[in-house]
Amino acid sequence: MSRVVVLGAGVSGHTAAAFARRWLGRGDSVTVVSPKPDYNWIPSNIWVGVGLLKPQKVTVPLEPIYDRAGIEFVQAAARSIHPDGDSGSPAPYVMAEAADGTMHKVPYDFLINATGPRLRFDKTEGLGPEGGHSMSVCTPEHAVMASAALDEEVERMKRGEKRKFLVGVGHGTCTCEGAAFEYIVNLEFELRRRGVRDRAEITWLTNEYELGDFGMGGMHIRHKGYVIPSSTFNGSLFAERGINWITRAHVHRVEADRVHYETLDGAMSEQEFDFAMLLPPFSGVGLKAFGRDGGEITDRLFMPNEFMRVDADYAQRPPEEWTAADWPRTYQSPDYQNIFAAGIAFAPPHAISTPRTSPNGTVIAPAPPRTGQPSATIGKAVAQSIVDMLGGAPQPTQAASMADMGAACVASAGANPFTGTAASMIVYPIVPDFERYPEYGRDMDLTFGEIGLAGHWIKILLHHMFLYKARLLPGWHRIPE
Ligand SMILES: Cc1cc2nc3c(=O)[nH]c(=O)nc-3n(C[C@H](O)[C@H](O)[C@H](O)COP(=O)(O)OP(=O)(O)OC[C@H]3O[C@@H](n4cnc5c(N)ncnc54)[C@H](O)[C@@H]3O)c2cc1C
Repeated sequence: MSRVVVLGAGVSGHTAAAFARRWLGRGDSVTVVSPKPDYNWIPSNIWVGVGLLKPQKVTVPLEPIYDRAGIEFVQAAARSIHPDGDSGSPAPYVMAEAADGTMHKVPYDFLINATGPRLRFDKTEGLGPEGGHSMSVCTPEHAVMASAALDEEVERMKRGEKRKFLVGVGHGTCTCEGAAFEYIVNLEFELRRRGVRDRAEITWLTNEYELGDFGMGGMHIRHKGYVIPSSTFNGSLFAERGINWITRAHVHRVEADRVHYETLDGAMSEQEFDFAMLLPPFSGVGLKAFGRDGGEITDRLFMPNEFMRVDADYAQRPPEEWTAADWPRTYQSPDYQNIFAAGIAFAPPHAISTPRTSPNGTVIAPAPPRTGQPSATIGKAVAQSIVDMLGGAPQPTQAASMADMGAACVASAGANPFTGTAASMIVYPIVPDFERYPEYGRDMDLTFGEIGLAGHWIKILLHHMFLYKARLLPGWHRIPE
C-alpha cells in the first residue's frame, strides 16, 4: 500500500487529492492535511467583499466530501517535512499541528505541497484588517469585514458625506493585481447600484508599471478586431467608470486615514482614504525541513521566499535572457523524487514583469500571477505523475508549464445577471514565449479582451461549476480546470 499525502485543501491540493483518489487503487491511501475545515472558492470572495454573497456561499465543508470519497482528512497545519525520516526510521513523514496544539505525524510515500500563500500583511506597517487599517478579500472572514465596512461607508454617503475609496495592492512586490482589479470594478458597480456613486472618489493604487500589467508584463489583446495593449484596455475601462489611478507605487505605511507610498521615481506621497482594500504580498507558508540527524535542511527544499524549489531553472539572469524554458514542467523537487509542489506553493524561477527599483533601492515590480486555472491544472498533472510513478514510471509523466498554459481573468463588475457586466481577458501563454510568438510573446488568436454581459454569465457559471466540482458530485472530474 502506498500513501499519497497532500498538504493544503485549496484549489490545487483539493484537485490533486481528488484525482489521486480517483486514479489510485483502493489499496493505496490519499490523505489531505489542511488547517481549515472548509474549501474556499477564493475568486468568489470578491462578491462576499461587496456584500453580494454570504460567506457560506463560497465555502464547502471538507470532511463529508472526503468521507464520501475515501480521502483521509487531518485538520492541521503542516509544520515540517522529514524527507529522510529520523534516527528511528528512514521512512519520510510530515509533522502537522492541530488547532489545539496536538502534533500529528503523517507518513508518506509521495508528498504534494499545495499549501498556497502566506498573506504577508506584516511586510507593510499598518496593512490588513487584523490590527491594521485596510481591508482584504483574501479569506471569507476578511471579505465579510470588508463588506461590513463598505456598508458603513454607504450609510454615511446616504447621509450626504463624500467618501474616498482606495483599492489595489499594499506592497511593491505584490501579485494578484487581477483580484484587486476585480474588487475595484465590483465596488464601483455596487456604489452605483446603491445610489451613492456620485459621493465616492475611487482610486486604484498599484505596483504595476502600467495599468493592465497583472504581473505578466502586460499583454497585447485583440479587442473588437484591433490589437491594443492591456494598459489601454484597462485605462479606458477605468476612465469610463471614473476611477483614478496611481501606478508604480510601493506602500510603506498604512495609517487610519491615509497610505504613505513611494513611486519608482523615488518620490514619497500620501493618499487619503476612508475605505481601503489593499492586498498583501505573498510568501510560502514557512514549512521547515529536517534531515535524518535532525539537522535543518529547509534551504534544500525551499527558496528564501519559502516557496518550494521544483524543476525550474533558478539561475539568476537579466530579464533579456529569461526564456519560457526556465519555468517548471513537472513540479518535482530536484532533491527528492517523491516530493512535488503544486499551485502557489512552487517557487517561480523569476518574475515575468520587468523588475524595477526606485532610486532609493525600493523594489517596485509585481510578482508573477498565481491564478486558479494553472493551480488546478498543475495539481491534476502532479497527481497523474504520482499515480504513474506508483505504477512503475521512473519519472513524472506529466508536464504543465505556465509557458504552455493560458489564464482567464474574468473580472465581473457587478454580480447582477442582467445589469452586471464583466471585463474578460484571456491570455495564452501566461509566460510569454518570444521564440514561438516573436511579435508579442503570445498567441494573438488566443489572447483577447471583451467587456460585456457574456463574461458576467461565464463568471456566474464558473462559480457554480467549481463549487459543484469541489463537492466531488457526480461527473465532477469532467469539469475542466
Ligand atoms: C481575492 C482573490 C480573488 C481571486 N480571483 C481569482 C480569479 O478570479 N481567477 C483565478 O484564476 N484566480 C483567482 N485568484 C487566485 C486563486 O485563488 C489562486 O490561484 C488559488 O487559490 C491558488 O490555489 P492554491 O491551492 O495554490 O492555494 P489556496 O487555494 O490558497 O490553497 C492553499 C491551501 O493550503 C492550506 N494551508 C495553508 N497553510 C498550510 C499548512 N501549513 N499546512 C497544510 N495546509 C495549509 C490552506 O488552508 C488552503 O487550504 C484569486 C485570489 C484572491 C486572493
